[in-house]
Amino acid sequence: MANTPDAAAQKACETADCGLYALAQSAEVKPAALKVVANPPPLDPATDEWDDAPLYQARRKIYPQRVHGVYRRIKWAVLFVTLGIYYFTPFLRWDRGPNAPDQAVLIDLPNRRFYFFFIEIWPQEIYYLTGLLIIAAMALFLMNAIAGRIWCGYLCPQTVWTDLFQTIERWCEGDRREHMQRERGPWTPERVARAGAKYFLWLMVAWWTGGAWVLYFADAPTLVYDLATFQAPLVAYAWIGILTFTTFTLAGFMREQVCLYMCPWPRIQAALTDEHALNVTYRYDRGEPRTSVKKATVLRAQGQPVGDCVECLQCVHVCPTGVDIRQGPDLGCIQCGLCIDACDAVMAKIGRPPRLIAYDTDINVKRHAEGLAPEYRFARARTLLYVVVIAAVGGIMTYTLMTRTAQGLNVIHDRNPIFVRLSDGALRNAYTVRVINKRGERREFTLSLSGLPGSLLDVVQTRDDGRFVIEVGPDQTREVRVLVTDYVPDPPASTPITFHLYDVMTGERAAASDYFRAPAGG
Ligand code: SF4
Ligand code: SF4
Repeated sequence: MANTPDAAAQKACETADCGLYALAQSAEVKPAALKVVANPPPLDPATDEWDDAPLYQARRKIYPQRVHGVYRRIKWAVLFVTLGIYYFTPFLRWDRGPNAPDQAVLIDLPNRRFYFFFIEIWPQEIYYLTGLLIIAAMALFLMNAIAGRIWCGYLCPQTVWTDLFQTIERWCEGDRREHMQRERGPWTPERVARAGAKYFLWLMVAWWTGGAWVLYFADAPTLVYDLATFQAPLVAYAWIGILTFTTFTLAGFMREQVCLYMCPWPRIQAALTDEHALNVTYRYDRGEPRTSVKKATVLRAQGQPVGDCVECLQCVHVCPTGVDIRQGPDLGCIQCGLCIDACDAVMAKIGRPPRLIAYDTDINVKRHAEGLAPEYRFARARTLLYVVVIAAVGGIMTYTLMTRTAQGLNVIHDRNPIFVRLSDGALRNAYTVRVINKRGERREFTLSLSGLPGSLLDVVQTRDDGRFVIEVGPDQTREVRVLVTDYVPDPPASTPITFHLYDVMTGERAAASDYFRAPAGG
C-alpha cells in the first residue's frame, strides 16, 4: 500500500489492535475519524462470507507501556491507599473491653458477629448489610453518572491488582518494546531468570493477598503465628490457596479479559450512562486530519488544515486494555486516563496544547465540533436522585445505629400445639423467648406481659423471687420457655399481647409482640 495518510493510519490501526470499525461507523460525532479507519469490504449476506467469519477472536497479548503524568500519579496514590487498607486493616486494634475481641475489623463467624471499629453487628441486624449494599450500588451509579467508569479505571480490585502485576512485569521483563523483543527471541538463561523472578514476585503478592483475606476472619496476629507454625485450621490454608490461585490467574494472565468478557458492569454501565457523563474522549475536531509531525509542520506552513494527532500511537501503547480511544467509545475502555497522560506528553514535545485526549462529555464532543464552548451539568435529576438515596439510607442507618438498644427480645409462638386446655378449664400458650444482651458484662433481666389482663406468666427454669430473673452472659443470648395461662372463659381466637423485657439494674427495656391463641368460638 502506498505511503499515504490513510495507508499509514490503517497500518497503525492494525498494529494497535483496534478493529473497531463497526463502532467507528456508528458514532455520529467523529466523521473525521472515519477517514483514517481502514474500510473492509462489506460482508454480503447472500454469500458464504458470513459463514466464514470466525466466531472466536484469538487474544492479542497486550504490553502496556510505562507512562508518566497526572492520572498515572492518581492511580499510584489509589493503588497504595487501597492495597494498604486491604493488607494492613486486620492488624488494627480496637479496645472493646475484657470480653470482646480487640480486632478493629473482624468477621467472627463462630460467634456470628461482625465488628467494625465501634460498631458490632449481630445476626438479627443483618439488614444493615442491605443498607450498605444499597449505598454501594448508588455510589457506583453516581460515579458513573458523573465520570463514567472511574470505578473500573481506579478502584476496581481487578484493575488495582492488574496494575501491580504489570508493574512487577515491567521491573522484571522491561518496558513494552524490550519485553516484546525478548518474547520474540529464544529462551536464554537471562530470559528464564527474568521470567522466573516475575512469576515468583507475582506468586508472593498473590499469596499475601489470599493470606490477608483470611486474617479478617480471626485474630490476625494469632492466626499469622498459627499459619506459620502449621497449627491453623485446614480451611484457612484452603482459602489462602484458592485466593492465591485466583489472584495469580486473574491479575497475572487474564487481566483485560476479565473486564472485556467476565465483568457485567461495562454492559450495565453502558445502559446507565448519558451524554453529560465525563468519559475519556478523543477531540476529533482538534486531532483530525492526522498526519506525521513533519508533514503537519509543512501543511501548517502552507495554511492547510491539519490536526494535532501525529499518529504516534502512544495512547494505544499505554492502554492496559489495548483500546484505541481515537476510534470512539469502547466497552474495553476502563477510563483510566493513561492515554491522556501519554498524549499530553506527546503534545508537550511537539509544542501543541494538551488534552487532545481528555475526560469530557458526549455533549461537549459535539459542541467542540460546532465551535461552541463546553458546558458541564453535574447536578442533574439522576445525580441528585442518587445523592438523595445515599443520604436517606445513610441517615437511617446512622440513626438506627446511634439509637439501638443494648438488649433485644425475640418471641416464637409454639406451633404444635397452638394452645392447651388445662384440667381447670384455663387455656395455656407456650413461647420460646430469646433474650439478647449486647453488653460486655453479665446482666439480669425480668419479663412481664401486657394485653391479656388476669393471665399468668411463667418463665420456666428461671429464678422466681416474685419476679422472673433471666441471667444472660456478656455479649450473649439466652433462650427461655415462657408459659402464658389465661383464666378468662371463652377468650377470642386471637388476642395481641406484648412481652416486656427490663434490665433489673438499669431499667433499660425491650419489647416484642405476639398473639395468645384460643379455640374459635370458645
Ligand atoms: S498519543 Fe495523541 S498524538 Fe499520538 S496517536 Fe494518540 S492521540 Fe494521536
Ligand atoms: S483508552 Fe485510555 S482511558 Fe481507556 S482504558 Fe485505554 S488508556 Fe485507559
